[in-house]
Amino acid sequence: MKLIGILGGMSAASTQIYYRQLCEITRRRLGGLHSPELLIRSLDFATIEQLQAKGRWDEAGEILNAEAKALERAGADFIVLATNTMHKLADQMMAGVGIPLLHIADATADRIRKSALKTPGLIATAFTMEQSFYVDRLKAAGLQPLIPDDDDRADVHRIIYDELCKDITTSPSRSRFEDVARHLVSGGADCMILGCTEVGMLLDAGNVSVPVFDTTLIHCESAIELALAP
Ligand code: GLU
Repeated sequence: MKLIGILGGMSAASTQIYYRQLCEITRRRLGGLHSPELLIRSLDFATIEQLQAKGRWDEAGEILNAEAKALERAGADFIVLATNTMHKLADQMMAGVGIPLLHIADATADRIRKSALKTPGLIATAFTMEQSFYVDRLKAAGLQPLIPDDDDRADVHRIIYDELCKDITTSPSRSRFEDVARHLVSGGADCMILGCTEVGMLLDAGNVSVPVFDTTLIHCESAIELALAP
């Protein structure tokens, strides 16, 4: 089994989901007392969020690059960056790193393509929904992503940072996310990408009317697949 290097803490709320999922998937796959070989580096999200909010992406990229190198030195075979947003900095993060990155958008796009769906709604941070690094990658994979309108994007972004990243889930916020998903379906989405690693705390197949692709779960499944590959 390969050693998975997880770069997380962005936020800590979702890194906990990664840990639980990776353990559950491994137990399902291998049975008995098996558990995954992991290195988890959990950063202080307050530092990262400040750099994001101030647009100081370069400095955030330097931090991720140093951490990726540290995971490599510690023996990781590949890296799982446990956040969609910070994949904006994937190239800078992996500069001079000799082990591969399991890219969250590629893993998700692969899964959607296999289902023959084409027009995913994307629910994520404003950075992920509005900037090109993620949407263009989905388009390059042959998908036609749809993003929510201005009001919906603003509410989703606010709820992610003010609540979900602090491990807070509320009924009004769940209803608001359900509205956003409904609007995307009305606009033509044939499936939904939960494109932020915390969104699965509010949405899943039970409250979205089209197939749901939860990036956290897909990323974990792909990581175990890779870890167990010969
Ligand atoms: N975990 C989130 C994501 O998947 C948002 C927090 C962050 O900016 O890293 O995008």
